[in-house]
Amino acid sequence: MSETPSPTLEHLLAGYRRFRETGWARRRERWATLRDGQEPRVLIISCSDSRVDPSQIFDVDPGEIFVVRNIAALVPPFETTPGRHGVSAALEYAVQVLKVDEIVVMGHGMCGGCRAALTQEMLGAEPGSGGFVANWISMLDDARDPIAERLGTAGREAERAMEHAAVKVSLANLRTFPCVRQKEREGTLKLRGAFFAISDGMLHLLDESSGEFEPAH
Ligand SMILES: [Zn+2]
Repeated sequence: MSETPSPTLEHLLAGYRRFRETGWARRRERWATLRDGQEPRVLIISCSDSRVDPSQIFDVDPGEIFVVRNIAALVPPFETTPGRHGVSAALEYAVQVLKVDEIVVMGHGMCGGCRAALTQEMLGAEPGSGGFVANWISMLDDARDPIAERLGTAGREAERAMEHAAVKVSLANLRTFPCVRQKEREGTLKLRGAFFAISDGMLHLLDESSGEFEPAH
């Protein structure tokens, strides 16, 4: 836990002033080239968790990564049901318009969304009182059941298994999108699973052939 409390917008404005004085000025040329558009090569799907900001973890410049963040870094399956499909829209834009080369799904340690998927503590909640979260993370149910059976619904080991499984669920769901499947088959789009361990700041990459997450170098 951080010693200093997290800042509100009022305090964040001090950071904005620093950005204007240093970050913006130093990268003015970079910003100028971005005026005409963006050409990020990578789409990153990450959790909304305040501790796992992809720009910070990958130390990138503006315009380098296209990012979608949501509870538990999940990608829903290809669905044409009514509803506002925010993640699918961002995915479609990244793949079809920006034509990114890679999609990285980055899960993380101590993920509250994954923990709730495991405990199912929000099951039955009304929309607005936990129901949206419950519905969202219910896409992990199939992956969750064998983990709960094997390791229980609490403790680091079960939680880590759920967090790792969530990355694999998102990768599988990505492959239900026809455009993703086609581009992956053609070799013009690569899918990667990743996991950021908050406790030690280490990134791990999924080896899909073994199903294991290995430390990145
Ligand atoms: Zn999370």
